[in-house]
Amino acid sequence: MLTVDDLRVAYGGYSAVRDVNFHVEQGEFFTLLGPSGCGKTTTLRTIAGLETPTGGVIRIDGDDVFNSGRQIVVPTHRRNISMVFQSYAIWPHMTVFENVSFPLETRGLKRAETRSKVQSALEVVGLGKFADRPATQLSGGQQQRVALARAIVKESKLLLLDEPLSNLDAKLREQMRFELRDLQGRIDTTAIYVTHDQEEALTMSDRIALMRNGEIIELGTPKELYLTPKNVFTARFLGQANLVRCHACERNGDSYRAMTAFGFIISVNPIEEPAQARWMMVRPEHVEIASDGFEGSNCLTGTIRSATFTGRFVEYVVDIAGQEIRAVVLTATLHEVGQEVGVRMPPERVLFLEMDEDE
Ligand code: ATP
Repeated sequence: MLTVDDLRVAYGGYSAVRDVNFHVEQGEFFTLLGPSGCGKTTTLRTIAGLETPTGGVIRIDGDDVFNSGRQIVVPTHRRNISMVFQSYAIWPHMTVFENVSFPLETRGLKRAETRSKVQSALEVVGLGKFADRPATQLSGGQQQRVALARAIVKESKLLLLDEPLSNLDAKLREQMRFELRDLQGRIDTTAIYVTHDQEEALTMSDRIALMRNGEIIELGTPKELYLTPKNVFTARFLGQANLVRCHACERNGDSYRAMTAFGFIISVNPIEEPAQARWMMVRPEHVEIASDGFEGSNCLTGTIRSATFTGRFVEYVVDIAGQEIRAVVLTATLHEVGQEVGVRMPPERVLFLEMDEDE
């Protein structure tokens, strides 16, 4: 449905997007994720035709809408896309119906046809009874749904969403995540979603492209990026990560082992270039703690330095050979600060990561 090849965008001499490549299938929910200024919005705006790239190809449903080599630049209104912005862009002087019917005005549809399309878009977003209400009398969440209805009424091939939930309060934002994902599935559209919120990306996306400094650093499903990130930046951006220096990583039968401050640590996760591994990574929720120790691979002894009770979980900081390791465990068993405990890092949860270029 969407192909982006070697996309480059520059503002003056500044390169905001560099050699970005990805392909999105029909019906996918695809997210561009990354820190502020990494080029997510610029990428989305070039797909919409609101920015002109310096080079590359953008193809929507098989047709080039931008091709620097063939000098093709299709204007926004002929790209078969709809866009929802952070600000919603709802017109306050219009009713809900007028706001949603706006994109259909130039299509020369019969009144009854327009009314039926608008009404079904409003039903989809749960605002079927709000058609005649002035837009000013809507809550933030309702306004956001009007913006979505206006985007889906066009029945475009691509729905482009730029941080559409970031102006909503925390509770509504969480609710809208599920609503939006559900809605996208029901209308079977292809969505390209921009966010800097890793939780939003993990919960909503089929696949995520993680960006940094104008480039895609890693692309994969939420599970791939969270459980088996290929680099330190991804590991850190998508959640908490214990990172410990390692060296002399080598293959050891079906597993890999590397030297750390804790001695040899084993991982069963493959690594392309073991000799390049510089970091051992394990997520806090995968670290196991027990009073009477463990047996087997990666079993260590440490002292609890701090314990933060959060209700369902306790967050421990454990000192192992002078290194601090975080562990998040269910509160079934509690350990005291100062207590000596056994710590296990399951080999299937340990990763060896290569040096990060920004180290
Ligand atoms: P945010 O999450 O803060 O919106 P982003 O990842 O969407 O960030 P972009 O808005 O795509 O980032 O910006 C990428 C880079 O390009 C930034 O360094 C930004 O300052 C720069 N930039 C964006 N728009 C322009 C412009 N019109 N003129 C000059 N520089 C720009």
